[in-house]
Amino acid sequence: MFSLQNRIALVTGAGRGIGRAIAIGLAKAGAKVGVTARTAAEVEGAVADIQKAGGQALAIVADLTQKDAPAQILQEMTAKLGPIDILVNNAGIGSSANPRPVAEFSDDFWELSLLLNLTVPYKLSKAVLPHMREQRWGRIINIASINSKMPSLHGAAYAASKHGLLGLTRTLALEVAREGVTVNAICPGPVRTVMNDKRIEYDALRRSMTFKEVEQAMTPIGGRLEPEDIAPMAVYLASTEARMVTGQAFNICGGVLLY
Ligand code: NAP
Repeated sequence: MFSLQNRIALVTGAGRGIGRAIAIGLAKAGAKVGVTARTAAEVEGAVADIQKAGGQALAIVADLTQKDAPAQILQEMTAKLGPIDILVNNAGIGSSANPRPVAEFSDDFWELSLLLNLTVPYKLSKAVLPHMREQRWGRIINIASINSKMPSLHGAAYAASKHGLLGLTRTLALEVAREGVTVNAICPGPVRTVMNDKRIEYDALRRSMTFKEVEQAMTPIGGRLEPEDIAPMAVYLASTEARMVTGQAFNICGGVLLY
């Protein structure tokens, strides 16, 4: 429905899960897509899927927590595909990689969460802005969370970083509002991915429930979302038709959040 022909997009954390579904969605709409994450097999698998469907994609294997990674990814994108018109900040680390109450929280895990979930999107956004401003067209889409608006028990670093991501989204949106660049966030609820499986395992243990019982009760609609439930909103926000939409944070969450 929306054409992204002649657009160049970068999706971080696109080897699997939500990022992969978004990369495929953008490519189906006509964008050339840079797919990046650490696991080479997953990145190459996502690129192969896109190419099989007739799209164009570039695999970039990188660890975004490394200081020079954002600059290196941008350099490779620009050299091989062209400058980035659409940036999707999706790579993230969840609360369940190391869940603890704040009083017992790991400082290292706090710093890692803030770095990957908040500082990296800030750095990548800053780096893509000059080209977007110059051509007076650009799209920055941050994959936030319902935990950008509500707490995550034993996941303070996740909730804090995702709340922060909305602060970045809204502030940057205002700063570039007159320059053809929009900045928005998508706030998914529980989506069936590796990251969310770990959260369910933790909650099932904590609440003496089975995996299935926790999963079923996660949303008013029932069960979890699929990564493909998130992708169409990203395609819309990336389109020219969404030119008047900026600074927003859209819940796609099966009815968990009703505001
Ligand atoms: P996932 O299945 O764990 O995928 C995360 C992606 O990020 C993977 O491709 C992973 O690949 C990449 N990644 C992780 N650490 C990285 C690093 N240091 N450098 C580069 N890439 C890295 O997670 P997901 O559930 O799809 O989550 C994607 C985004 O959606 C995250 O921002 C998450 O917070 C958000 N979200 C998810 C849910 C949910 O229920 N699933 C709900 C709300 C929001 P490698 O490990 O190979 O690097």
